[in-house]
Amino acid sequence: MLEKLKKEVYDANIFLYQNNLVTLTWGNASGIDREKGYVVIKPSGVSYESLTPEMMVVVSLKDGSVIEGNLNPSSDTITHLELYRNFKEIKGVVHTHSTWATIMSQRGESLIPFGTTHADTFYGSVPCTRKLTKEEIESDYELNTGKVIVETFKDFNYREIPGVFVKHHGPFTWGSSPLKAAENALILETVSKMGYFTSLNIDSKSIGVDKYLLDKHYLRKHGKNAYYGQKEK
Ligand SMILES: [Zn+2]
Repeated sequence: MLEKLKKEVYDANIFLYQNNLVTLTWGNASGIDREKGYVVIKPSGVSYESLTPEMMVVVSLKDGSVIEGNLNPSSDTITHLELYRNFKEIKGVVHTHSTWATIMSQRGESLIPFGTTHADTFYGSVPCTRKLTKEEIESDYELNTGKVIVETFKDFNYREIPGVFVKHHGPFTWGSSPLKAAENALILETVSKMGYFTSLNIDSKSIGVDKYLLDKHYLRKHGKNAYYGQKEK
């Protein structure tokens, strides 16, 4: 079942691997069939070299129970599901421990837009979550990781900011497909590195982009008046 989506999720996982966003097996990509209410995700602990599309695991959006597959789904599956349940328009989710985005998560700071590289994808700061409490970590850790992301986005628009830093942990990104979520993971890694060095030894607030430059770059690629790239025929 869902062979096309399995291939898309497989391709997104391989994209993470090929772009050096994952070390060992520290990363996972998923995709969703919203009509069926099923999520397809990487199996837990399987190396990227040995991964095949057929190994992808199909789970229920509702409770994470395995619908199809012989392998256990990623240990982060429940976090992915919480994001799909709350961010109703997304169709792909990615989690990595990519170096620079993880550094931002460990610093516990949000990343303000310093330039157009950031503004092309993120319409404002990429936020960092609060840290989880002892209770939240000791019970339903993966679900609470999802919940703290959703809580953070009470003040942000998930459609305009397709990523987050989870404090002391690492980045999650999402998008309109598994591959889009993976591309956003690569973009977040890139702008995290740029942002880190841009803000080194200076008051970062003073060097953020002006709102009109942020608007120009985000809105020429996104929304109804976008004009970047080729028109779809
Ligand atoms: Zn993780």
